[in-house]
Amino acid sequence: MNILVINCGSSSLKYQLIDMNGEDVLAKGLVERIGIEGSVIKHDTAGKDRVVIKEPMKDHKRALELVLEAIVDEEHGAIKSMDEIGAVGHRVVHGGEEFADSVIIDEAVMEAIDRCIELAPLHNPPNIMGIEACRELMPETPMVAVFDTAFHQSIPAENYIYPLPYEFYEKYKVRRYGFHGTSHKYVSLRAAEILGKDIKDLNIVTCHLGNGSSITAVQGGESIDTSMGFTPLEGLAMGTRSGDIDPAIIPFIMNKEDMNFDDVNELLNKKSGVLGISGVSSDFRDLEVAAEEGNERAKLALDVFCNRVTKYIAAYSAQMCSVDAVVFTAGIGENSASIRERVCDGLECLNIIIDKELNNVRGKEAIVSKALGAVKILVIPTNEELMIARDTLNLVNNR
Ligand code: ADP
Repeated sequence: MNILVINCGSSSLKYQLIDMNGEDVLAKGLVERIGIEGSVIKHDTAGKDRVVIKEPMKDHKRALELVLEAIVDEEHGAIKSMDEIGAVGHRVVHGGEEFADSVIIDEAVMEAIDRCIELAPLHNPPNIMGIEACRELMPETPMVAVFDTAFHQSIPAENYIYPLPYEFYEKYKVRRYGFHGTSHKYVSLRAAEILGKDIKDLNIVTCHLGNGSSITAVQGGESIDTSMGFTPLEGLAMGTRSGDIDPAIIPFIMNKEDMNFDDVNELLNKKSGVLGISGVSSDFRDLEVAAEEGNERAKLALDVFCNRVTKYIAAYSAQMCSVDAVVFTAGIGENSASIRERVCDGLECLNIIIDKELNNVRGKEAIVSKALGAVKILVIPTNEELMIARDTLNLVNNR
Protein backbone atom coordinates (compact mmCIF):
# COMPACT_ATOMS: atom_id res chain seq x y z
CA MET A 1 0.00 0.00 0.00
CA ASN A 2 1.15 3.57 -0.74
CA ILE A 3 0.70 5.98 2.14
CA LEU A 4 0.77 9.75 1.90
CA VAL A 5 2.19 11.42 5.01
CA ILE A 6 1.20 15.03 5.61
CA ASN A 7 2.68 17.53 8.07
CA CYS A 8 1.02 20.96 7.95
CA GLY A 9 2.35 24.15 9.51
CA SER A 10 0.61 27.50 9.42
CA SER A 11 2.03 28.41 6.00
CA SER A 12 3.84 25.21 5.06
CA LEU A 13 3.08 21.61 4.15
CA LYS A 14 5.59 18.75 4.10
CA TYR A 15 4.65 15.48 2.45
CA GLN A 16 6.02 12.05 1.59
CA LEU A 17 4.50 9.26 -0.45
CA ILE A 18 5.80 5.96 0.89
CA ASP A 19 5.40 2.52 -0.69
CA MET A 20 5.00 0.37 2.42
CA ASN A 21 5.99 -2.85 0.64
CA GLY A 22 9.65 -1.90 0.89
CA GLU A 23 9.17 1.31 2.92
CA ASP A 24 10.51 3.23 -0.10
CA VAL A 25 9.92 6.96 -0.49
CA LEU A 26 8.32 7.39 -3.93
CA ALA A 27 7.99 11.18 -3.73
CA LYS A 28 8.40 13.95 -1.21
CA GLY A 29 8.22 17.67 -1.06
CA LEU A 30 7.72 20.90 0.75
CA VAL A 31 5.17 23.64 0.13
CA GLU A 32 6.07 27.05 1.53
CA ARG A 33 4.35 30.42 1.80
CA ILE A 34 0.78 29.07 1.66
CA GLY A 35 -1.65 31.99 1.86
CA ILE A 36 1.09 34.55 1.24
CA GLU A 37 2.75 35.90 -1.86
CA GLY A 38 5.37 33.65 -3.44
CA SER A 39 3.80 30.23 -2.73
CA VAL A 40 6.07 27.46 -3.96
CA ILE A 41 6.23 23.64 -4.06
CA LYS A 42 9.56 21.83 -4.23
CA HIS A 43 8.68 18.34 -5.38
CA ASP A 44 11.08 15.40 -5.65
CA THR A 45 10.21 12.06 -7.20
CA ALA A 46 12.61 9.15 -6.71
CA GLY A 47 14.93 8.90 -9.71
CA LYS A 48 13.71 12.12 -11.33
CA ASP A 49 14.77 15.76 -11.32
CA ARG A 50 13.30 18.17 -8.79
CA VAL A 51 10.24 20.11 -9.95
CA VAL A 52 9.56 23.60 -8.58
CA ILE A 53 5.96 24.77 -8.88
CA LYS A 54 5.31 28.48 -8.36
CA GLU A 55 1.62 29.31 -8.30
CA PRO A 56 -0.61 31.27 -5.95
CA MET A 57 -1.96 29.00 -3.17
CA LYS A 58 -4.54 30.79 -1.11
CA ASP A 59 -5.00 27.98 1.39
CA HIS A 60 -3.90 24.44 2.33
CA LYS A 61 -6.60 22.93 0.10
CA ARG A 62 -5.18 24.59 -3.02
CA ALA A 63 -1.66 23.61 -1.98
CA LEU A 64 -2.72 20.01 -1.54
CA GLU A 65 -4.54 19.98 -4.89
CA LEU A 66 -1.29 20.98 -6.58
CA VAL A 67 0.71 18.45 -4.56
CA LEU A 68 -1.66 15.65 -5.62
CA GLU A 69 -1.43 16.80 -9.25
CA ALA A 70 2.37 16.69 -9.00
CA ILE A 71 2.27 13.21 -7.49
CA VAL A 72 0.15 11.79 -10.34
CA ASP A 73 1.67 13.94 -13.12
CA GLU A 74 2.43 11.87 -16.23
CA GLU A 75 5.91 13.29 -16.61
CA HIS A 76 7.32 13.94 -13.14
CA GLY A 77 4.81 12.04 -11.00
CA ALA A 78 5.35 8.91 -8.91
CA ILE A 79 2.03 7.09 -9.45
CA LYS A 80 -0.63 6.98 -12.16
CA SER A 81 -3.74 7.88 -10.21
CA MET A 82 -4.89 8.92 -6.77
CA ASP A 83 -6.52 5.51 -6.35
CA GLU A 84 -3.01 4.25 -5.71
CA ILE A 85 -2.91 6.17 -2.41
CA GLY A 86 -4.28 3.68 0.11
CA ALA A 87 -4.34 5.96 3.16
CA VAL A 88 -3.15 9.31 4.51
CA GLY A 89 -1.26 9.76 7.79
CA HIS A 90 -1.40 13.22 9.36
CA ARG A 91 0.99 14.57 11.93
CA VAL A 92 -0.96 16.32 14.69
CA VAL A 93 1.01 18.15 17.37
CA HIS A 94 -1.28 17.97 20.38
CA GLY A 95 -3.57 15.14 21.38
CA GLY A 96 -3.85 16.28 25.01
CA GLU A 97 -5.04 13.49 27.31
CA GLU A 98 -7.48 12.39 24.63
CA PHE A 99 -5.03 10.28 22.61
CA ALA A 100 -2.43 7.81 23.86
CA ASP A 101 -2.02 6.37 20.38
CA SER A 102 -2.62 7.06 16.72
CA VAL A 103 -6.25 6.82 15.53
CA ILE A 104 -8.35 6.54 12.39
CA ILE A 105 -9.90 9.97 11.84
CA ASP A 106 -13.67 10.28 12.14
CA GLU A 107 -16.00 13.04 13.34
CA ALA A 108 -15.43 12.27 17.03
CA VAL A 109 -11.65 12.41 16.52
CA MET A 110 -11.95 15.75 14.71
CA GLU A 111 -13.92 17.13 17.64
CA ALA A 112 -11.30 15.89 20.10
CA ILE A 113 -8.45 17.44 18.07
CA ASP A 114 -10.48 20.63 18.07
CA ARG A 115 -10.72 20.53 21.88
CA CYS A 116 -6.91 20.34 22.02
CA ILE A 117 -6.54 23.66 20.15
CA GLU A 118 -6.53 25.41 23.51
CA LEU A 119 -3.33 23.51 24.39
CA ALA A 120 -1.58 24.15 21.04
CA PRO A 121 -3.11 27.30 19.56
CA LEU A 122 -0.34 27.73 16.99
CA HIS A 123 0.01 24.11 15.90
CA ASN A 124 -3.29 22.24 15.95
CA PRO A 125 -5.24 24.68 13.70
CA PRO A 126 -2.93 24.18 10.66
CA ASN A 127 -2.93 20.41 11.32
CA ILE A 128 -6.74 20.51 11.23
CA MET A 129 -6.68 22.55 8.00
CA GLY A 130 -4.52 19.86 6.39
CA ILE A 131 -6.86 17.07 7.46
CA GLU A 132 -9.92 18.95 6.26
CA ALA A 133 -8.35 19.72 2.89
CA CYS A 134 -7.42 16.04 2.44
CA ARG A 135 -10.88 14.83 3.43
CA GLU A 136 -12.44 17.13 0.83
CA LEU A 137 -10.08 16.08 -1.92
CA MET A 138 -9.95 12.36 -1.06
CA PRO A 139 -13.28 11.61 0.65
CA GLU A 140 -13.02 7.83 0.26
CA THR A 141 -9.43 7.46 1.49
CA PRO A 142 -8.93 6.45 5.15
CA MET A 143 -6.99 8.99 7.24
CA VAL A 144 -5.03 8.52 10.43
CA ALA A 145 -3.88 11.11 12.99
CA VAL A 146 -0.49 10.57 14.66
CA PHE A 147 0.14 12.80 17.68
CA ASP A 148 3.46 14.24 18.90
CA THR A 149 2.18 13.90 22.46
CA ALA A 150 0.76 10.35 22.28
CA PHE A 151 3.97 8.43 23.05
CA HIS A 152 4.30 10.37 26.31
CA GLN A 153 0.84 9.51 27.64
CA SER A 154 2.46 6.56 29.45
CA ILE A 155 4.33 9.00 31.74
CA PRO A 156 3.20 8.37 35.34
CA ALA A 157 1.46 11.12 37.33
CA GLU A 158 4.48 11.69 39.58
CA ASN A 159 6.36 12.82 36.47
CA TYR A 160 3.59 14.77 34.76
CA ILE A 161 2.01 16.67 37.64
CA TYR A 162 3.56 20.08 38.35
CA PRO A 163 3.95 21.22 41.93
CA LEU A 164 1.16 23.80 41.50
CA PRO A 165 -2.32 23.85 43.06
CA TYR A 166 -3.91 20.60 41.83
CA GLU A 167 -7.00 22.46 40.68
CA PHE A 168 -5.06 23.86 37.67
CA TYR A 169 -4.65 20.31 36.43
CA GLU A 170 -8.33 19.58 37.06
CA LYS A 171 -9.67 22.81 35.62
CA TYR A 172 -7.24 23.53 32.77
CA LYS A 173 -5.31 20.28 32.28
CA VAL A 174 -2.03 21.98 33.14
CA ARG A 175 0.44 19.08 33.20
CA ARG A 176 3.48 17.74 31.35
CA TYR A 177 2.56 16.45 27.89
CA GLY A 178 5.91 16.22 26.12
CA PHE A 179 6.56 16.50 22.38
CA HIS A 180 8.66 14.92 19.59
CA GLY A 181 6.94 11.66 20.64
CA THR A 182 6.98 10.15 17.15
CA SER A 183 10.73 10.71 16.93
CA HIS A 184 11.49 9.34 20.42
CA LYS A 185 9.37 6.28 19.65
CA TYR A 186 11.02 5.69 16.26
CA VAL A 187 14.62 5.94 17.50
CA SER A 188 14.00 3.84 20.61
CA LEU A 189 12.46 1.04 18.49
CA ARG A 190 15.30 1.31 16.00
CA ALA A 191 17.90 1.20 18.81
CA ALA A 192 16.41 -2.08 20.07
CA GLU A 193 16.54 -3.49 16.52
CA ILE A 194 20.16 -2.41 16.02
CA LEU A 195 21.16 -3.89 19.38
CA GLY A 196 19.25 -7.10 18.64
CA LYS A 197 17.30 -6.84 21.89
CA ASP A 198 13.62 -6.84 22.83
CA ILE A 199 12.69 -3.23 23.60
CA LYS A 200 10.77 -4.51 26.66
CA ASP A 201 14.14 -5.38 28.22
CA LEU A 202 15.81 -2.03 27.58
CA ASN A 203 16.15 1.30 29.37
CA ILE A 204 16.96 3.94 26.76
CA VAL A 205 17.57 7.69 26.97
CA THR A 206 16.66 9.28 23.63
CA CYS A 207 18.06 12.74 22.85
CA HIS A 208 16.25 14.61 20.06
CA LEU A 209 18.54 17.61 19.55
CA GLY A 210 17.40 19.95 16.78
CA ASN A 211 15.98 23.44 16.59
CA GLY A 212 13.75 22.31 19.39
CA SER A 213 15.31 19.73 21.67
CA SER A 214 13.95 17.17 24.11
CA ILE A 215 15.15 14.12 26.00
CA THR A 216 13.04 11.12 26.96
CA ALA A 217 13.45 8.21 29.36
CA VAL A 218 12.12 5.15 27.53
CA GLN A 219 11.67 2.16 29.85
CA GLY A 220 10.59 -1.12 28.27
CA GLY A 221 9.42 0.77 25.18
CA GLU A 222 7.33 3.32 27.11
CA SER A 223 8.06 6.97 27.77
CA ILE A 224 8.24 7.44 31.53
CA ASP A 225 9.55 11.01 31.55
CA THR A 226 10.44 13.71 29.06
CA SER A 227 12.04 17.13 29.25
CA MET A 228 9.43 19.18 27.38
CA GLY A 229 6.36 19.93 29.40
CA PHE A 230 3.01 21.68 29.15
CA THR A 231 4.53 23.36 26.08
CA PRO A 232 7.74 22.78 24.10
CA LEU A 233 9.40 25.57 26.11
CA GLU A 234 10.49 23.45 29.07
CA GLY A 235 13.67 21.45 29.47
CA LEU A 236 16.88 21.84 27.51
CA ALA A 237 18.28 25.14 26.31
CA MET A 238 17.32 25.28 22.61
CA GLY A 239 18.03 27.36 19.52
CA THR A 240 15.85 30.25 20.65
CA ARG A 241 13.90 28.79 23.62
CA SER A 242 15.06 29.15 27.18
CA GLY A 243 14.17 25.71 28.50
CA ASP A 244 14.17 25.46 32.32
CA ILE A 245 14.59 28.75 34.16
CA ASP A 246 13.61 29.96 37.60
CA PRO A 247 9.97 31.06 37.05
CA ALA A 248 10.55 34.03 39.33
CA ILE A 249 12.77 35.54 36.63
CA ILE A 250 9.64 36.19 34.56
CA PRO A 251 7.86 38.72 36.83
CA PHE A 252 11.26 40.24 37.68
CA ILE A 253 12.11 40.91 34.00
CA MET A 254 8.55 42.00 33.19
CA ASN A 255 8.84 44.60 35.89
CA LYS A 256 12.34 45.78 35.00
CA GLU A 257 11.78 45.93 31.22
CA ASP A 258 8.13 46.99 31.34
CA MET A 259 7.04 43.91 29.38
CA ASN A 260 3.58 42.43 28.94
CA PHE A 261 2.72 38.72 28.57
CA ASP A 262 3.14 38.72 24.78
CA ASP A 263 6.57 40.35 25.11
CA VAL A 264 7.73 37.80 27.64
CA ASN A 265 6.34 34.91 25.59
CA GLU A 266 8.29 36.16 22.60
CA LEU A 267 11.40 36.65 24.74
CA LEU A 268 11.36 33.09 26.10
CA ASN A 269 10.42 31.39 22.81
CA LYS A 270 12.22 33.44 20.17
CA LYS A 271 15.07 35.39 21.76
CA SER A 272 16.48 33.06 24.39
CA GLY A 273 18.31 29.73 24.29
CA VAL A 274 21.72 29.61 22.63
CA LEU A 275 20.78 32.63 20.50
CA GLY A 276 20.07 34.65 23.61
CA ILE A 277 23.30 33.66 25.36
CA SER A 278 25.59 34.01 22.35
CA GLY A 279 23.98 36.90 20.50
CA VAL A 280 25.44 35.11 17.45
CA SER A 281 22.94 32.58 16.09
CA SER A 282 20.44 29.88 16.96
CA ASP A 283 22.17 27.54 14.50
CA PHE A 284 24.71 25.23 16.07
CA ARG A 285 26.91 25.22 12.96
CA ASP A 286 27.35 29.00 13.29
CA LEU A 287 27.98 28.67 17.02
CA GLU A 288 30.65 26.01 16.59
CA VAL A 289 32.45 28.18 14.01
CA ALA A 290 32.19 31.29 16.22
CA ALA A 291 33.43 29.36 19.27
CA GLU A 292 36.42 28.06 17.32
CA GLU A 293 37.22 31.62 16.28
CA GLY A 294 37.35 32.57 19.94
CA ASN A 295 33.88 34.03 20.54
CA GLU A 296 33.49 33.53 24.30
CA ARG A 297 29.72 33.85 24.41
CA ALA A 298 29.26 31.33 21.60
CA LYS A 299 31.46 28.97 23.61
CA LEU A 300 29.43 29.67 26.73
CA ALA A 301 26.17 28.98 24.87
CA LEU A 302 27.48 25.60 23.71
CA ASP A 303 28.67 24.81 27.24
CA VAL A 304 25.25 25.63 28.71
CA PHE A 305 23.53 23.53 26.04
CA CYS A 306 25.81 20.51 26.51
CA ASN A 307 25.67 20.66 30.32
CA ARG A 308 21.89 20.58 30.27
CA VAL A 309 21.88 17.57 27.96
CA THR A 310 24.40 15.81 30.23
CA LYS A 311 22.28 16.57 33.30
CA TYR A 312 19.08 15.21 31.77
CA ILE A 313 20.78 12.02 30.57
CA ALA A 314 22.17 11.45 34.07
CA ALA A 315 18.83 12.25 35.73
CA TYR A 316 16.88 9.88 33.49
CA SER A 317 19.49 7.14 33.90
CA ALA A 318 19.00 7.42 37.66
CA GLN A 319 15.25 7.50 37.30
CA MET A 320 15.32 4.18 35.42
CA CYS A 321 17.93 2.82 37.90
CA SER A 322 20.15 1.87 34.97
CA VAL A 323 20.55 2.69 31.33
CA ASP A 324 21.34 0.35 28.43
CA ALA A 325 21.54 2.86 25.58
CA VAL A 326 21.73 6.57 24.87
CA VAL A 327 20.51 7.65 21.42
CA PHE A 328 21.32 10.90 19.63
CA THR A 329 19.03 12.10 16.86
CA ALA A 330 17.75 15.18 14.92
CA GLY A 331 19.84 17.96 13.30
CA ILE A 332 22.41 18.37 16.07
CA GLY A 333 22.30 14.83 17.47
CA GLU A 334 22.79 13.25 14.05
CA ASN A 335 25.38 15.67 12.70
CA SER A 336 27.53 17.17 15.44
CA ALA A 337 30.23 14.77 16.62
CA SER A 338 31.71 17.49 18.85
CA ILE A 339 28.45 18.09 20.74
CA ARG A 340 27.93 14.35 21.25
CA GLU A 341 31.48 14.10 22.56
CA ARG A 342 31.11 17.03 24.95
CA VAL A 343 27.79 15.74 26.28
CA CYS A 344 29.23 12.29 26.95
CA ASP A 345 32.45 13.63 28.50
CA GLY A 346 30.48 14.30 31.67
CA LEU A 347 28.95 10.84 31.77
CA GLU A 348 31.89 8.47 32.09
CA CYS A 349 30.99 7.94 35.75
CA LEU A 350 27.80 6.27 34.49
CA ASN A 351 29.73 4.01 32.11
CA ILE A 352 28.59 6.08 29.16
CA ILE A 353 31.90 6.22 27.31
CA ILE A 354 32.14 7.55 23.77
CA ASP A 355 34.72 6.33 21.24
CA LYS A 356 36.14 9.40 19.51
CA GLU A 357 36.99 7.49 16.32
CA LEU A 358 33.62 5.77 15.98
CA ASN A 359 31.89 9.03 16.86
CA ASN A 360 33.28 10.63 13.73
CA VAL A 361 30.02 10.04 11.80
CA ARG A 362 27.37 12.29 10.40
CA GLY A 363 23.76 11.57 9.47
CA LYS A 364 23.87 7.78 9.52
CA GLU A 365 23.21 4.96 11.96
CA ALA A 366 26.19 4.02 14.09
CA ILE A 367 27.18 2.68 17.50
CA VAL A 368 29.72 5.15 18.84
CA SER A 369 30.41 3.88 22.36
CA LYS A 370 33.66 2.27 23.48
CA ALA A 371 33.33 -1.50 23.60
CA LEU A 372 34.30 -1.54 27.29
CA GLY A 373 31.54 0.88 28.28
CA ALA A 374 28.46 -0.97 29.47
CA VAL A 375 26.13 1.57 27.91
CA LYS A 376 25.69 1.66 24.14
CA ILE A 377 25.71 5.11 22.55
CA LEU A 378 23.95 5.28 19.20
CA VAL A 379 23.47 7.82 16.44
CA ILE A 380 20.13 7.18 14.69
CA PRO A 381 18.69 9.57 12.08
CA THR A 382 15.07 10.10 13.02
CA ASN A 383 12.30 9.27 10.56
CA GLU A 384 8.99 10.65 11.81
CA GLU A 385 7.37 10.25 8.38
CA LEU A 386 8.09 6.52 8.31
CA MET A 387 6.75 6.12 11.87
CA ILE A 388 3.55 7.95 10.84
CA ALA A 389 3.24 5.75 7.75
CA ARG A 390 3.73 2.57 9.80
CA ASP A 391 1.07 3.58 12.33
CA THR A 392 -1.26 4.48 9.46
CA LEU A 393 -0.73 1.13 7.73
CA ASN A 394 -1.30 -0.80 10.97
CA LEU A 395 -4.54 0.98 11.79
CA VAL A 396 -5.92 0.80 8.26
CA ASN A 397 -5.05 -2.91 7.93
CA ASN A 398 -6.67 -3.73 11.27
CA ARG A 399 -9.92 -1.82 10.74
P1 ADP B 1 13.82 20.91 13.54
O1 ADP B 1 13.64 20.92 15.01
O2 ADP B 1 13.47 22.20 12.87
O3 ADP B 1 13.30 19.68 12.83
P2 ADP B 1 16.42 19.81 12.89
O4 ADP B 1 16.27 18.53 13.59
O5 ADP B 1 16.46 19.80 11.39
O6 ADP B 1 15.38 20.88 13.39
O7 ADP B 1 17.75 20.50 13.42
C1 ADP B 1 18.16 21.73 12.90
C2 ADP B 1 19.39 22.17 13.66
O8 ADP B 1 20.40 21.17 13.55
C3 ADP B 1 20.02 23.41 13.05
O9 ADP B 1 19.51 24.57 13.63
C4 ADP B 1 21.46 23.26 13.41
O10 ADP B 1 21.68 23.95 14.61
C5 ADP B 1 21.66 21.80 13.69
N1 ADP B 1 22.62 21.18 12.76
C6 ADP B 1 22.41 20.71 11.52
N2 ADP B 1 23.57 20.24 10.99
C7 ADP B 1 24.54 20.44 11.92
C8 ADP B 1 25.95 20.19 11.98
N3 ADP B 1 26.60 19.61 10.97
N4 ADP B 1 26.59 20.53 13.12
C9 ADP B 1 25.95 21.11 14.14
N5 ADP B 1 24.63 21.36 14.15
C10 ADP B 1 23.93 21.05 13.05
